[in-house]
Amino acid sequence: MAEIFQREWKVAKPAAACADCGEVLAVSVEAHASLHEEGDGYARRDRCAACWGRVAERGFSHWAYKPAPPPEKPFRADLVAIRDFYMKLAGKEAASDRLLRYLLGLYLVRKKRLWLERTERAADGEILWIRFEKEGAAEPVPVPPFTPEDLLETRRRLDALLGVDVGDLEAQPATAG
Ligand SMILES: [Zn+2]
Repeated sequence: MAEIFQREWKVAKPAAACADCGEVLAVSVEAHASLHEEGDGYARRDRCAACWGRVAERGFSHWAYKPAPPPEKPFRADLVAIRDFYMKLAGKEAASDRLLRYLLGLYLVRKKRLWLERTERAADGEILWIRFEKEGAAEPVPVPPFTPEDLLETRRRLDALLGVDVGDLEAQPATAG
């Protein structure tokens, strides 16, 4: 399973060059990533700072980063960017978007950028009650029905888009408090 995942990730990982001018995005030099709605998902574009300055359409979500040297993943988004993407997915109804949001929610809870208050069993599945602030009110994040294949595909997409492996669902987050 892990081997398959690794192979798929290599195919999907972002290019190491600017999407506009083709210059290699150098380690530790500011670059910009943006996510664009495409088909029923999102496509990632990475650009050098100069090209980013000329971009009119900044996409669904975007952030600045500095490509990391190996062995770090060079295109990893930071937690602020990941949280921003999570927040923007809130209005999305498609099951694939809801699954993205669910996995990101669990990931951000593990990273202590969101807080899980409780989980609730509903007629059509599970609901996570997640707080944006440690002491704030919780909001419901319904978990869409999914298969193990959906889960693997969504993890692969998140790795390609954000450079993070959100991990297995067995790695359950600690609850708030
Ligand atoms: Zn460029």
